[in-house]
Amino acid sequence: MITRTHPAGTIRLALPHKGRLSERALALLESAGLRAGYRADRSLMATLGDDFQALFVRAADVPEFVADGAADLGVTGADLIEESGRRVTELLDLGFGVCRLVAAVPEDAPIRALSEIPAGTRVDTSFPRVTAGFFRGMGISVEIAPVSGAAEIAPKLGVADVVVDLTSTGSTLRVHHLREVGTLLESSARLIANPGALERDEGVARSAAELATALDSVLRAQRKRYLMANVPRARLREVREVLPGLSGLTVVEVLDGEGWVAAHAVVDEAALYPTISRLKALGAEGILVTRIERLTP
Ligand code: AMP
Repeated sequence: MITRTHPAGTIRLALPHKGRLSERALALLESAGLRAGYRADRSLMATLGDDFQALFVRAADVPEFVADGAADLGVTGADLIEESGRRVTELLDLGFGVCRLVAAVPEDAPIRALSEIPAGTRVDTSFPRVTAGFFRGMGISVEIAPVSGAAEIAPKLGVADVVVDLTSTGSTLRVHHLREVGTLLESSARLIANPGALERDEGVARSAAELATALDSVLRAQRKRYLMANVPRARLREVREVLPGLSGLTVVEVLDGEGWVAAHAVVDEAALYPTISRLKALGAEGILVTRIERLTP
């Protein structure tokens, strides 16, 4: 057990120092108002606002740092949290770094599903713990061969072998002539906390909750857009059906607008294009769409 060496009142947040999750994590924190203030040497520590201090470590080491209490909070992939086997409290799914841990076989292998993997098969993976647990759960005894990165192993695989690796688009698997046969785990970046620190330290608990709320509001806002349009007053009832809004439709008078009013609403980004088409069909004009910085329901 590493004891907390940082000054009381400062919350330490372990972040991936490079790799896929690093920039997205920093960008998200910045959107929530926490910009990393590096020292001149871009050292392994940075200040994040007044209350937080960032500690940059390998993404795979974040669960250890948090579980040991060397950091109070951390950001890393659910896959790495699971693989660490360490007990941490998950506070928020951050929605980026989405990928799956899948089992794949050479294209010409006869295996079509996870359940068809025969006992005794060699499984190459950099996730030995998750993989062993998964196949144990399926009642298939496989031989786990731990490796450091799966893409490099692919060419060495024999037809009877299986590789368990992360994928998001599937393109790396295809490049290596591998075919996916099933998913072991779905992953994305998570905000985690040391469970003991949350229980023992009121300050940590409060800051953790505040950070989770701030990040959540940024993530909600990223999925929404604020839409404004001038619509004929006579069509308001139909406009309301197209723009239900977050808590109803906001209608603003247009000065000298005669039969027109401005309708404002928060809409799902995914529904933006059909919404605009339907508004146009109702005679809407001057449609304006803007991003939202934060959204707290
Ligand atoms: P890195 O340090 O860049 O290898 O970061 C690896 C982490 O990024 C993984 O543990 C996942 O949580 C996440 N990730 C997201 N998409 C992918 C992907 N397609 N392949 C590997 N890792 C991914």
